[in-house]
Amino acid sequence: MNEVREWTVPGRVNLIGEHLDYNGGAVLPIAIDRAVTIKIRARDDGAVNVWSGGRRASFSADVAPGDVTDWSAYVAAAVWASRDADIAVPGADIVIESTLPTGAGLSSSAALTCGIAAAFDELAGTGLSRVDLARIGQRAESDFVGAPVGLMDQLAVLCSEPEHALHIDFATDVPALTPVPATWAEAGLAVAVIDTHAHHELASGEYGARRDECTRAAEQLGLSLLAQAQVDAVLKLEDELLKRRTRHVVTESARVRGAVKALNAGEWTQFGTMLTASHESLREDFQVSSPELDVAVETALEAGALGARMTGGGFGGSAIALLPAESVDDLRSRAAARFAALDWPAPDVFVVTPTAGAHRVRR
Ligand code: ADP
Ligand code: MG
Repeated sequence: MNEVREWTVPGRVNLIGEHLDYNGGAVLPIAIDRAVTIKIRARDDGAVNVWSGGRRASFSADVAPGDVTDWSAYVAAAVWASRDADIAVPGADIVIESTLPTGAGLSSSAALTCGIAAAFDELAGTGLSRVDLARIGQRAESDFVGAPVGLMDQLAVLCSEPEHALHIDFATDVPALTPVPATWAEAGLAVAVIDTHAHHELASGEYGARRDECTRAAEQLGLSLLAQAQVDAVLKLEDELLKRRTRHVVTESARVRGAVKALNAGEWTQFGTMLTASHESLREDFQVSSPELDVAVETALEAGALGARMTGGGFGGSAIALLPAESVDDLRSRAAARFAALDWPAPDVFVVTPTAGAHRVRR
């Protein structure tokens, strides 16, 4: 009988460096202590059966883009992308459990697709690298589901180390990965997630639009990637919109450099300042925030956060705050009150700690 394998894949929070992965810039995510768990058993009959959250779906292992569009689309996407990368798995039973909210900007999608790719790779004995697995996860989302995502989420959930953030520099074809110690807890601080429960339908269309704008700006500047732009690039552009997008990419890249120094030195006030400045840039220049995210950030700062920002692609999802650990309860009640006054459902506020990337659970 085919043996059951179990994989745990965390979600991620990007500390800083938003919308930079596809622009060839650097980012600084952590894998978080909330995860998708995938139990998987190979089948020899060419069928894939999936169970998740009380639902069941079945499709052929020969699935192709367009074949599956229901809740199991991301699973089918991962099966397709894995097999397309020559991972020979004839079929599988897949049971998914999760402590990670979906659609909250914490990368449940990357955890799911990369976890399936990693499990398939192990079942088939293919031995791909983690960067190769990340590209399979990315391909699943962009070419099967139709969400043109960068590569940050996949690398964060696959390659992070415990108690470290992961600096990922996308300047080169093979991204450079450098773990950076994440020690704020030793200073009595915590990183809290504020999940606003707001999911905006326009998100994927707007995401694609931002990518196109960045490509256009880079072309006009004669660059292959917009993160190669220097501080004076904005002056060389005519178009007001492209100036804004470029200003975000240039200043965010500088903030990532500053944030890495601050993280290494334990300069928490400085680190926090960078987070809040990142949010302002995403709101004003890149225009990917939302009223819910802005209120979440404001509330965090009122609750004594050293810094706060939206995390992930934007238009809803989650914000993060760096704040004294003892202030988290206060943030939760303030956020509940502020959201209630606006007739919005109460956000979830919870602390996250930097954890290891995807790993096989030995049973
Ligand atoms: P995020 O990655 O921020 O959570 P996305 O919109 O990128 O949000 O991905 C969410 C999608 O991923 C869900 O709509 C669902 O299709 C898929 N997904 C995530 N977790 C699960 C799960 N446990 N079971 C089935 N599908 C899941
Ligand atoms: Mg996602």
